[in-house]
Amino acid sequence: MSATQSLHFPRRTSRRVNVGKVGIGGTAPIVIQSMTNTDTEDVFATAMQVAQLARAGSELVRITVNTREAAAAVPKIRERLAQLNVDVPLIGDFHFNGHKLLTEYPACAESLAKLRINPGNVGKGAKRDEQFAQLIEIACRFDKPIRIGVNWGSLDQALLARIMDENARRAEPKNAVEIMREAMVASALESAAQAESLGLAGDHIILSCKVSGVQDLIAVYRDLARRCDYPLHLGLTEAGMGSKGIVASTAALSVLLQEGIGDTLRISLTPEPQGDRTREVIVAQEILQVMGLRAFTPLVAACPGCGRTTSTVFQALAQDIQAYVREQMPTWHVQRIGVENMTLAVMGCVVNGPGESKQANIGISLPGTGEAPVAPVYVDGERVVTLRGENIAAEFRQLVDDYVARTYPSRI
Ligand code: SF4
Repeated sequence: MSATQSLHFPRRTSRRVNVGKVGIGGTAPIVIQSMTNTDTEDVFATAMQVAQLARAGSELVRITVNTREAAAAVPKIRERLAQLNVDVPLIGDFHFNGHKLLTEYPACAESLAKLRINPGNVGKGAKRDEQFAQLIEIACRFDKPIRIGVNWGSLDQALLARIMDENARRAEPKNAVEIMREAMVASALESAAQAESLGLAGDHIILSCKVSGVQDLIAVYRDLARRCDYPLHLGLTEAGMGSKGIVASTAALSVLLQEGIGDTLRISLTPEPQGDRTREVIVAQEILQVMGLRAFTPLVAACPGCGRTTSTVFQALAQDIQAYVREQMPTWHVQRIGVENMTLAVMGCVVNGPGESKQANIGISLPGTGEAPVAPVYVDGERVVTLRGENIAAEFRQLVDDYVARTYPSRI
């Protein structure tokens, strides 16, 4: 199935929520989000990271707003981004004191495109409803959509206690895992109903219910999708570091996406110390692209290598060409229509090399151990040239450039 065909996958949500210039839900493509990890009070560092995330492909960026200084910084971050020519919508993440910060700093509310509210952290006891109502009144006044973001680490304890009491009265009580899942979904749906009863339009509400277990996430979102028509934000919370975080997020989200569940997503990777925050954006893009749901940048198919190719030449070339394509993509994207759908292959020997290379728009089959030191290149299934010698990487990049120039129409 091609990426273009798959853009028409059936989608569950019929409602569309506009977050600044970005539509979520309905027929809109699945939107990629990310979140900064800078101190929001640091205007320069936060604006720089937002810009990096946006340039990597994040279509919305969330920033935490946890203090008065952070709330005061938000309009300045927006101004700094304008100077950097970055217009990505910003989402404010509020816990505990959001009602106060947004009341005291209206310019903060004005500068944000969406407010994220955690119903488990809005307030305790009698204050909960009052503070939730204040947040919704602000969202209505500034015409801002909200995400009601339930997280199992901060589940509304009063609601959980009520559901446990109801469960205890059942003839056949549910187990603890089922109750936790039910409480999460109930927290999202009841908060959404409460927001609507307070005057917020249904097309201003997005829901999420994040957990850190793959099976829990799938079960919770299936239930949520069955019971409401709000756009859903997907994400495995606390996914973790490195390959574990990527694998867990991919496993959970791909099942849901395949079922048409999910309108926007964030991959919550823990970066390595000094690691690149944009990794979460690239992983999100790759999940959507390999599933054929969206296309962002040409991906390189490469064989895993085996005893038939003991040199690392093909691995280095695969890495080189993927990095080159990512580097070129911001320019190509502006200049060339459809270039994101280009496919490339870098293969290690004659066994699968020519066959796989012929399937790609441009493929190269490097020589395995004992094979003649030549690398045939295939363009749209035809062998066009054979590369040899020290400059294979540079010559292959040139072939890719030539292919882009003659295949994808200019936008300019
Ligand atoms: S293409 Fe060749 S080198 Fe690559 S995995 Fe297959 S047999 Fe091994």
